[in-house]
Amino acid sequence: MPRTSTDSNDVTTSTTEPEPFIPIAEPLLTGNELAYVTDCVKSSWVSSIGKYIPRFEEDFARFCNTKHGIATSNGTTALHLALVVSGIGQGDEVIIPTLTFVATANAITYTGAKPVFADSESRTWNLDPVDVKRKITPRTKAIIPVHLYGHPVDMDAINQIANEHQLAVIEDAAEAHGAEYKGRRVGGLGRIAAFSFYGNKIITTGEGGMLTTDDDELAEKARWLRDHGMSTTERYWHPVIGYNYRLTNLQAALGVAQMERVEEFISRKRALAELYRSELKNVPGITLPPEESWAKSVYWMYSILVGDEFGVTRDALMEHLKARGIDSRPFFHPIHTLPPYLNSQSLPVAERVARQGINLPSAVSLTDRSAQRVADAIREARR
Ligand SMILES: *Cc1c(COP(=O)(O)O)cnc(C)c1O
Repeated sequence: MPRTSTDSNDVTTSTTEPEPFIPIAEPLLTGNELAYVTDCVKSSWVSSIGKYIPRFEEDFARFCNTKHGIATSNGTTALHLALVVSGIGQGDEVIIPTLTFVATANAITYTGAKPVFADSESRTWNLDPVDVKRKITPRTKAIIPVHLYGHPVDMDAINQIANEHQLAVIEDAAEAHGAEYKGRRVGGLGRIAAFSFYGNKIITTGEGGMLTTDDDELAEKARWLRDHGMSTTERYWHPVIGYNYRLTNLQAALGVAQMERVEEFISRKRALAELYRSELKNVPGITLPPEESWAKSVYWMYSILVGDEFGVTRDALMEHLKARGIDSRPFFHPIHTLPPYLNSQSLPVAERVARQGINLPSAVSLTDRSAQRVADAIREARR
């Protein structure tokens, strides 16, 4: 059986019949991806002009129920651009959850502003609105809620705080394409939102990103700055310092093909979550991922917490899975514990969740049988 993941070490199982390696994630590219990419190559439209770019932007905006979609080179540049068009810069503070991928903080740092870290809620593992309130200072300009591992943030609470203090709300929806908050899709729940299409995300363009917004002015500014801020009336006249954050037609071709199957991908993620839930719900010491009554999670990464009662540590469980050919990931380190952002504050919920959390194999191509194997291996680790 060929290996399906390229980013983990070879694993030899001690069982008699070798079972296929189960990757944490892998893209599914078996639809029109090859046909559309071939079309780009044959027509020679391989750079950042071509029909697939506006098509991908329109398809994605429609999917999010937003007026605009602005494709970018990746999710980090989408976040950076969202901050720039929101007027965030030197001397400003932006509140984010400490429990997120480092790109959320880095995008803020690129603008000269300072990321301020808030704790997580123990129910949803997402940004805690109570702690957000405590972190507001006269310098605070924006909040970036992150829909972690596919579960939406309680956006009414965040938007209320933002309204009271006149702060911009920028959604980091990189892990949550299609997730719903009170029946509304993420991407249209704040002023502007950023998505990622990295290889392990819900849909992929290899590398890629997207901004979504209903705001005409922000959209226009983002399109302009994405392309070096060139004057629309005079060629090579650049009144500001812009960026090259463009997506290519080749990447957008992948995106259009992926969008044809996005609902199917989300259904599969949710079916896998249901399978994992029914298999793991009675295992002592295992906390299952949240799904609040007002939420539809897309379970980007099916994630569990390993508590003391499990009897085996989180890291030992990951080793146990690895020895059985099953890939997994620890949760992100809270960003306030990383060298560039190190500070002495204590954010106890995020620290505990980060210490106990594991992402389980969550590829849309994962079979029921493989998910069953993962669940069996977890239960077996206790003995
Ligand atoms: C993946 C991710 C990003 C960054 O996306 P890239 O496309 O890798 O730049 C940002 N925020 C979160 C929460 C992510 O998971």
